[in-house]
Amino acid sequence: MNDIPKSHPRYMSLNIRDAIVAGVEQGITSIHGLIAHGRGEAFDYLIGEKTQSFAIKAVRTAAAMLLLAEHPVISVNGNAAALVPDELVKLGKTLNAPLEVNIFHASGEREQAIQRHLLKHGAVQVLMPTKQAQLLFIDSNRKFVHPEGIFKADVVFVPLEDGDRCEALRKMHKDVITIDLNPMSRTAKRASITIVDNVVRALPLLIQEIQPLQKASPTVLKEIVSGYSNEDILQDALQCIRGEQ
Ligand code: ATP
Repeated sequence: MNDIPKSHPRYMSLNIRDAIVAGVEQGITSIHGLIAHGRGEAFDYLIGEKTQSFAIKAVRTAAAMLLLAEHPVISVNGNAAALVPDELVKLGKTLNAPLEVNIFHASGEREQAIQRHLLKHGAVQVLMPTKQAQLLFIDSNRKFVHPEGIFKADVVFVPLEDGDRCEALRKMHKDVITIDLNPMSRTAKRASITIVDNVVRALPLLIQEIQPLQKASPTVLKEIVSGYSNEDILQDALQCIRGEQ
């Protein structure tokens, strides 16, 4: 895909950047997604480009919450589809949960390109936005959802969310689990669980965490969830960014 030498100190970061650029070229990722990615990169730099302890705690709680969910749904946008298609598919299969395409910048063509991309990566079911089911409290294209997917979900997993929809989903009494490198974003603050980490590191970790917890009792899973404070996690992330820990 590229000619970045493995010895380059920014090898990983440049490879991830290439995946996003390829996403744009394939019509999966919006051009605005490049800007969102740049913001993510800056925060990744500030947390040392590695998974920190606050992310590990959030990942464990996210695994427990997803296993307790009656109808979990995985929402996929253009950036997530470009960066982690295999992991999104694997997560869906592990949880027996549908993937649902949901993008901010309206484009039927791009929605279909994302669906095809996920199916090519082995997805069983990829739900699409519909006019039949709409989220309340939101005006953007992200309000159009699938009646059997996000509309019905009790827990929505949304790597790389936008703040408005996160707020709408919360107002509709759904739990939201997000992955967002910016602990100050509206999404990070409004979500039930925020994994402050790069989606390319956090998603494999989440899948890994779910597998052993599948054997845990609901009581144990509930204890994990009730012992979690998203506010504390965001404070820890901010301290890390300020170099205070
Ligand atoms: P909000 O509406 O929640 O305040 P925003 O307007 O800053 O957020 P968007 O542009 O909708 O954000 O989405 C980009 C968000 O995703 C940013 O917060 C950015 O830090 C984060 N992000 C971008 N790339 C990644 C990545 N690879 N892994 C995790 N988070 C990422």
